Amino acid sequence: MNNEHIPTIHDFDFDRICDYFLNFDRQGPGNEASTLRALQFIEGLSDSSRIADLGCGTGGQTITLARHAPGTITGVDLFPKFIDRLHANAAAFGLQDRVKGLAGDMAEPPFEEGSLDLIWSEGAIYHIGFQRGMKEWRRYLKSGGYIAVTENTWLTDERPKEIADFWNAAYPEIDTIPHKVAQVQAAGYLPVATFVLPETIWTDYYAAQERFLAQHPQPEAFTAAQRYERELYDKYQAYYGYAFYIAQRK
Ligand code: SAH
Repeated sequence: MNNEHIPTIHDFDFDRICDYFLNFDRQGPGNEASTLRALQFIEGLSDSSRIADLGCGTGGQTITLARHAPGTITGVDLFPKFIDRLHANAAAFGLQDRVKGLAGDMAEPPFEEGSLDLIWSEGAIYHIGFQRGMKEWRRYLKSGGYIAVTENTWLTDERPKEIADFWNAAYPEIDTIPHKVAQVQAAGYLPVATFVLPETIWTDYYAAQERFLAQHPQPEAFTAAQRYERELYDKYQAYYGYAFYIAQRK
């Protein structure tokens, strides 16, 4: 099969993607246990800490952070509908005083330079690129502040052509953990921890999509794009996965 003719989800219009993903607790691969595991590496947070969650979606991980970390959290996402949902979710947990959502662009985060104790971003930094995000977001952190992001990552040095072609076309910055960690250091951080998220983040994510698609049929090309990505995962999961990268601004 020629990957160049297979659309990915990003080839569809924004409204469709937005309405589709509103139906899920999380819009990318990730789960509460992994968010909490990453949070354990963050030191020094207090009630006065300021945390940003960039590309927060409907706020699955934002709420987890707010429930387990002190301070105030601002979730930023391009889609106002996701921000509305974040506000509703925060209110449902009684967290409306500590969780705020802003519709905005992660390329221009709405924060003062040197004002944040922690920047969080799960399944989202690839929208502007890992290296660009790591470099540009650094200035919003206080000295000693932390960043924690997840990123699609090669797990081995070698890989079959079919999966290499797919991801190199969909996200050319995909790379191995050692290379990503070197990029983190080059961007001006002390790398603190890295871990690979469990396979269940993908299988749960694809299973939720299948349940939804069974009840709410989408255009065939859309469904086919989602299913193709899943087939590739079933076949090649030994070669790639999401990893957390946790680092501290020097
Ligand atoms: N962090 C959430 C959502 C991940 S999906 C989770 O893990 O469940 C990626 C999110 O990034 C989407 O909600 C999308 O709307 C958002 N996004 C994409 N480009 C963006 C940009 N330039 N600025 C802000 N958010 C963006």
